[in-house]
Amino acid sequence: MKRILCIFTAALCGVTLLAQEENSRQEDSLRYAYGRQQVESNTRQNGTPYADTLDTGSPGVKVVLYNNGTYRFVKDPAQMAQEEVFTECWDTHAVNPYRENPDKLPERFSLWVVDTLDAYVCPNITTPRSLFGYRHGRHHQGIDLPYPTGTPVPAAFDGRVRVSNYTSGYGNLVIIRHASGLETFYAHLSERKVEAGDWVSAGDIIGLGGSTGRSTGPHLHFETRYRGAAFDPAWLIDFKTGTLRHRLLRIRSWYFNPNQRYVQDVDDEDEIFRTDEEDRKLAEEKAKKDAAARAAAEAAAIRYHNIRSGDTLSGIARQYHTTVKELCRLNGMKETTILSVGKRIRVN
Ligand SMILES: [Zn+2]
Repeated sequence: MKRILCIFTAALCGVTLLAQEENSRQEDSLRYAYGRQQVESNTRQNGTPYADTLDTGSPGVKVVLYNNGTYRFVKDPAQMAQEEVFTECWDTHAVNPYRENPDKLPERFSLWVVDTLDAYVCPNITTPRSLFGYRHGRHHQGIDLPYPTGTPVPAAFDGRVRVSNYTSGYGNLVIIRHASGLETFYAHLSERKVEAGDWVSAGDIIGLGGSTGRSTGPHLHFETRYRGAAFDPAWLIDFKTGTLRHRLLRIRSWYFNPNQRYVQDVDDEDEIFRTDEEDRKLAEEKAKKDAAARAAAEAAAIRYHNIRSGDTLSGIARQYHTTVKELCRLNGMKETTILSVGKRIRVN
């Protein structure tokens, strides 16, 4: 029995060694991207460090296997890096490399913030302390989340770190650009754990909470921007519950107005995101439907009487609780008109 166990153990060790060799050979970009922060990252999302990658039928998509047996489809950073969203206005220092007037953005557009391959992790489930918009005469371009110093800060979505810097206002700042074009800002960090160019998964620890820069106490200043223009992150994330409000975020140009905070009442997508043309079509359809409904209601309400032998106008009037005069009016008759048997007359 002992011998069998030894053989079994030896066989197991052999398998483990083989797997390790296989792992060490695999020095691809994915390993770098998703295995970089082995201790801190993935623990939040996957509970265990990165283990291995597999190819899929699609060249841009890989499977990352984790040591606990779970796996995830991920976009290959080597391919992602070629995409326009990660090359256009890629500046590892400028807070806003686009320098565009937000007025240039379309009136309505949509962003796939989280597609089938992307993940999301709420930066912190809490009641935001300071909201988006004007504050003490300054435009507060994000939302402040209470965040004790030293608390790990996760990336909200998959993406690539564009900026990891210290600035006087933001303090330690990390900006991540996501495949949708969205950028998320994490400011006042006590420590940054990533460098510009790093690929991160949602949930990867990108820094620690703090109070660096222009800050009066430990908190996370979180911003969401599109082409440099900030909008209230509350349009996207419900911080009180931690839920992502939309995978496909529909954006209206007025979101970029510094006075425009998230408003629950107007978050009726059907209403907000209809185009003028759609509005016109809907109005036309409604008018048609209303007209048809009115006609149907009228038709249903109108009653007729088939003239039988012996019928008189006064008799019919009595039967239908109306008057001879009304019957004449409705049917364009005179009181003297002879009723012909089989003819139909309107009675109301
Ligand atoms: Zn703030």
